[in-house]
Amino acid sequence: MTKENSDLEKLSMLDEKGHRIRINPAEVTGFFRRHRNWTQAVLIVIFLILPWIKIGGHQAILLDIPNRRFAILGLTFWAHDGPLVFFILAILTLGLALATAVLGRVWCGWGCPQTVFIDGVFRRIEALIEGNYIKRRALDKEPISSLKLFKKTLKWTLFSIVGAIISHSFIAYFVGTEPLLKMIQSDPRENWVAFLFTFSIAATITFDFGWFREQFCIIMCPYGRFQSVLMDDRTVNVMYDEKRGEPRKGSVPQGQTQGDCVNCLRCVNVCPTGIDIRNGTQMECIGCTACIDACDEIMIKVKKPKGLISYSSLTKEPINFTRPRTLLYSALIILALIGLTYFVSTRKPITYQVLRGKEAPYTLSQNSTGDGLVINHFRLNIHNQTFEDKDIPIETPPEWKDKGFSLATPESLVKIRAGESKMIHFFVTSPTSLMKGTGRLDTQILIDRQPFGITLLGPL
Ligand code: SF4
Ligand code: SF4
Repeated sequence: MTKENSDLEKLSMLDEKGHRIRINPAEVTGFFRRHRNWTQAVLIVIFLILPWIKIGGHQAILLDIPNRRFAILGLTFWAHDGPLVFFILAILTLGLALATAVLGRVWCGWGCPQTVFIDGVFRRIEALIEGNYIKRRALDKEPISSLKLFKKTLKWTLFSIVGAIISHSFIAYFVGTEPLLKMIQSDPRENWVAFLFTFSIAATITFDFGWFREQFCIIMCPYGRFQSVLMDDRTVNVMYDEKRGEPRKGSVPQGQTQGDCVNCLRCVNVCPTGIDIRNGTQMECIGCTACIDACDEIMIKVKKPKGLISYSSLTKEPINFTRPRTLLYSALIILALIGLTYFVSTRKPITYQVLRGKEAPYTLSQNSTGDGLVINHFRLNIHNQTFEDKDIPIETPPEWKDKGFSLATPESLVKIRAGESKMIHFFVTSPTSLMKGTGRLDTQILIDRQPFGITLLGPL
């Protein structure tokens, strides 16, 4: 196997012996770098402040898994709200599939927390303490010294602080900001489980963003493994224009004219996963666009047109949404949105279901003056889907009371906790005379002051 072939066969971050090559990508400036800076800043601010924002009295995003209750942008729902969970997950999954089909690994390069925090925070701290990529590479090779120890200790201290901030913000999405603040102010021994959980997340984040880095994208990320099946020849990706660039400087066969690639390796130097984009689209490429900016800088210097590396597709078509797979994903997203809208608009915060008692349809009795009475037994299922405890009165409407109706229940004021389901038995007594000839009577009761139709049965 030639050296070039063996380089293509092995992972970019490993040397010939399988040891990790520590990647210190070069800094880059340019159009995409500027836009990624803004995008990362906005995403980090959103991540940090979202748990502190309240919509409709609830945390904007709360995923309270132990209590199986969730709040998303004013919508509150519980684990049993299967359709709602299904539609939200379907929209997110299909949205990612659509973005990948159209723009390749745009999520990895622009939106993934792994990239955003490593590129937007951790590498900046590293550069602040250890200097630019040349100094960082030199420092890594240096034998241990007091200065190196000082710089590495300071860097890892700052990494740990940032890891703790991210971890606490992350936990706030699951336990809520108010309980989190209480936990922070209290003795860790009072909340051992939460403390150890937060600590282990902070440690994992610090380890991953500080040390493990691109290995997660290449070895562990499930999306990275299957994203290739979501792409096709018309997917727009970060690509090297081989036709224009080759034969590159230094390997021009006799009789051929050199292409635009001056073989400066700047695109390789800036790559956070250490690959050479000139070898074609690779699984390790996270679409970060650093090589586009890097090559554009070089093209300006050598007075050639920019775009030797650019967002492009194998067919060289511009971004195209009207392909069968993108149309299919879009149609499914629209269907899921319609389903979600229908579910949300028809979903009631508190649901009631009245069922007849299981025993005989009715029983007969008499009042004190000897008039016949018929008693019907009902079961009322109440489900409180809000995040608040409720007191729900069950009554007979005044007009039916005047006709001799009465309602008996062990709980005329039903106390039902947030998210609770409860079954209440109630008995409606009515004069038998009102049913003569039909054996049935449609009437109403008031549940939470709202009329609710029921049918009473009795003798003909
Ligand atoms: S090849 Fe380019 S776009 Fe892909 S990860 Fe490397 S620098 Fe980023
Ligand atoms: S930066 Fe551009 S010119 Fe330099 S090696 Fe990469 S593709 Fe070639």
